[in-house]
Amino acid sequence: MSEPTLSSKPDLAEWQSFVRRLVDEQHWTKEPNEVFIRFAEEVGELAKEMRKKWKLGSAASATAAGELADVFMYLCDLANHFNVDLEAAVRDKHRANRGRVWKF
Ligand SMILES: [Mg+2]
Repeated sequence: MSEPTLSSKPDLAEWQSFVRRLVDEQHWTKEPNEVFIRFAEEVGELAKEMRKKWKLGSAASATAAGELADVFMYLCDLANHFNVDLEAAVRDKHRANRGRVWKF
């Protein structure tokens, strides 16, 4: 099997396809609940980086970027499990939010 690749400017559909091929190639879990738990773990790792920045006034930006990347990859993986077209979902949600009245 050839290594999954990306174009220089992938859209979300291409990212989702890339992650799907990566999951297959690497034999990562295909159990959605486990994928969700791993996603949550990565959100926790991102939270830790955010706390460092908040508490210490400094952030290991490369580390924070890496955690954001982990969250994004697992988000794509989860979307794949639910057969969600992320780009369409974000556009639909954005459209719905634009028509919403926010009360704070
Ligand atoms: Mg991580």
